Amino acid sequence: MRTVMLVDMDYFYVACEELRHPEIREVPAVVGMDPKGGKGRGVVMTCNYKAREFGLRSGMPISTAYRLKPDAVYLSLDYDYYEGISKKIMEVIRSFADKFEQVSIDEAFIDTTDRVRSENPKDYAQRIKSAILEKTGIKCSIGIGPNKLIAKMACGKSKPNGIMEVNENEVGQFLSGMRIDDLYGIGAKTAEKLEKLGYATVSELAGANRARLVGKLGSFGSELIDYANGIDDSEVMEDASAKSVSREFTFESDTNKEEEIAEVIKRLGTEVVAELNRSQECFRTVTVKIRYGDFTEHVHSRSVKVTSDPDTLIDTAMELYKENANADRKIRKLGVRASNLSNYRGQRRIA
Ligand SMILES: [Mg+2]
Repeated sequence: MRTVMLVDMDYFYVACEELRHPEIREVPAVVGMDPKGGKGRGVVMTCNYKAREFGLRSGMPISTAYRLKPDAVYLSLDYDYYEGISKKIMEVIRSFADKFEQVSIDEAFIDTTDRVRSENPKDYAQRIKSAILEKTGIKCSIGIGPNKLIAKMACGKSKPNGIMEVNENEVGQFLSGMRIDDLYGIGAKTAEKLEKLGYATVSELAGANRARLVGKLGSFGSELIDYANGIDDSEVMEDASAKSVSREFTFESDTNKEEEIAEVIKRLGTEVVAELNRSQECFRTVTVKIRYGDFTEHVHSRSVKVTSDPDTLIDTAMELYKENANADRKIRKLGVRASNLSNYRGQRRIA
């Protein structure tokens, strides 16, 4: 049996800001785009728990946040500063891991199977938390499970500043009361589909007829049934996050014309998949990087089911562009990236 942990910082960007602006600790604080008196575009990247008391959430439009709490402290993003702190945090986490996989700027999976043979996993997690706090001043939450899926979900439940362990024997109990959209990897669209098919709870999905669901959703359906049963064989992948293939394009003159942008995304996506094919790799995450004429840069990512299909890459990149780009601003440079790669042969086997 494996012991996998997800270590995830709490309200990371705001926590970083609190280090250099201690005065915002006791007041609602938001990191994101400039709210511009409620007319600003963009979203809340992170907010602290004081802000959450007023209904603010990360991902919500910054204009909505402003309507709910106009007198919160609004700070703009400073990625370079956050990256510096993230690096120190990741060094600490890595030192506690048999295997280490950074997922994003503020979270990482670790496999600690060998490390916890002679120590209670919760005590071990507490030592990780203390080391991160001592070295960087940042608080985190840690989920512990027999696999990545359960570790991720336990971490979500333990927030903020918590530790939650779900061992192999507790997985069924842990998942049984949940609604379908509580299950990691199920977005609003998939949840709606599943509910129409008669699966509103994780327990119902766990007992679903595999052939029927595969008929409706393809191999993703089979994967979902595994998830609903708490089964996830995927390994904690050393340097998986570092591995990616990307292509960029700089426009001769800045543009916001959709046809031009669609054409470029198609070209970049085709090139990326061609390179993946050479090394026989599939991808699971699609990222679009948009740099505007004023050199501000935005990065948007989305997970898809494991595939090597060029249309999935191109269509997802285009969706990300349409959902996130500011149509009024002209773009200088576009990037398309495929990451979370796995070899065709090394692909997770689906029972
Ligand atoms: Mg986090």
